[in-house]
Amino acid sequence: TGRLAGKVALITGGAGGCGLAASELFAAEGAKVGIVDLPRSKGDDVARRLREAGHDVIFAPADVSDAEQVENCVKAVTDAFGPITVLMNHAGILAAVPFLETSEEEWDRIMAVNVKSMFLVSKAVLPGMIEAGGGSVICTSSISAVVGTPMEVLYCTSKGACHMFARALAVEFRDRNIRSNAVCPGFIATAHGLREIELLTKNGVDVSEEAIAAAQGRLCRPDEVAKAALFLASDDASFVNGAHLFADNAYTAI
Ligand code: NAD
Repeated sequence: TGRLAGKVALITGGAGGCGLAASELFAAEGAKVGIVDLPRSKGDDVARRLREAGHDVIFAPADVSDAEQVENCVKAVTDAFGPITVLMNHAGILAAVPFLETSEEEWDRIMAVNVKSMFLVSKAVLPGMIEAGGGSVICTSSISAVVGTPMEVLYCTSKGACHMFARALAVEFRDRNIRSNAVCPGFIATAHGLREIELLTKNGVDVSEEAIAAAQGRLCRPDEVAKAALFLASDDASFVNGAHLFADNAYTAI
């Protein structure tokens, strides 16, 4: 039972932050869940805890910017649970440095983890999803896809790409019953969000409590992102395709 009963979900970055919230929520809603995250993450502990709570969850470690590791983790999840019908491309890293101090290596890394990963994972997952009769892809974008932040040219560029990846995929695959949407959070109280605030502050950008309050009222909670993703993953969103669903309390509506 549950809104994702009968579905097999693969969540990248599923062991931390909003990815973890999604892993927990999707499992509670009846999905079988493959958590994909870095080998050094808490993926093993999270999967064990969720199994002990009676859910079907495995941890499939991978750096999602590495093609071979992606192939292996997708195979591990498919072998365990069958074809993946919900893919959440969530893993991502941030960069908050003055543009002129940004290195080529930093550019390559952020594009590899935030953008190339979606290409690699989706390419590995979609053939099985098509064979299974369809499914839902959710890409974690950001307010940074549409709002430029100082010190975040790389990050914003990567999220802009994510934004369009989700939309273009929707157009190409709707005739095969695959929906593809993006969830676009504002500042979230996760390791990523808090580190971002710390780095921006260090670089002279005002992201004080007052500034965040003016922009979006308060910090977003991980479960609020997970619940938006749940909607997109579920059949409740059966005609929602190519959408950008903002979870930002109107930050980008002003
Ligand atoms: P987080 O840092 O708390 O969690 C991210 C997870 O991704 C971690 O478990 C990490 O181990 C994993 N990960 C990182 N690199 C990986 C890689 N190469 N391979 C596999 N797993 C990897 O972050 P979060 O707040 O949940 O944010 C993650 C996503 O949300 C990113 O796509 C980010 O751009 C987006 N986002 C975050 C915020 C925010 O304020 N936190 C706002 C908007 C969008």
